[in-house]
Amino acid sequence: MFLDIAFGLIAALGVSTALQIPLTWDLMILGPLFALSPDIDFLIHLGRGGSSKNDDRHREILHLPLIFIPIGMLGIAFLMNPVWALLFGICALGHFIHDSIGIGWGVQWLFPVTSDHYSFFYIYQPKHKEPHPKKVVYRWKNAEIEKLAELYGDPDWIRNIYLQFHPYALFEYAALIASVIEVFVYRHYLIIV
Ligand SMILES: [Zn+2]
Repeated sequence: MFLDIAFGLIAALGVSTALQIPLTWDLMILGPLFALSPDIDFLIHLGRGGSSKNDDRHREILHLPLIFIPIGMLGIAFLMNPVWALLFGICALGHFIHDSIGIGWGVQWLFPVTSDHYSFFYIYQPKHKEPHPKKVVYRWKNAEIEKLAELYGDPDWIRNIYLQFHPYALFEYAALIASVIEVFVYRHYLIIV
């Protein structure tokens, strides 16, 4: 979540710089919201009585890049404006990349072609579970998600990562602080100029 907010802020700054438009408050607010938007399916999961301890399937509602990104971009371009649509596409893509590294069982990058989930480079390893093999690209069969969670997962991942200052969490906290500083320094610089 923290890295998504950071990425949304930096994406807003990047879009404003690339298109040579002002870094307005709407871009700065929409960037993080767009970067968090795929996790609306986690709220749906909570609304159905789920929790972070049994959330292995929540990503199968909106975490579908080949569907979520183009439909979202087209909808925003038609209903709002193309700049916001571009920002949405960048931020949603960043979210899916983030969700493919570290926590959970990746993203169904090629859905509807295949329901397989893909993760890259690093997967959080709970201390009390057996280690899984290290790979650059992990491909998980959709039908095996519950088994994977049982073998390698951590139902207390929020507490063990974000509340116990795991390096993954420290990186996210640092990225958020750096992005907030960068964006506000940039705005201040613009105001001075
Ligand atoms: Zn997500």
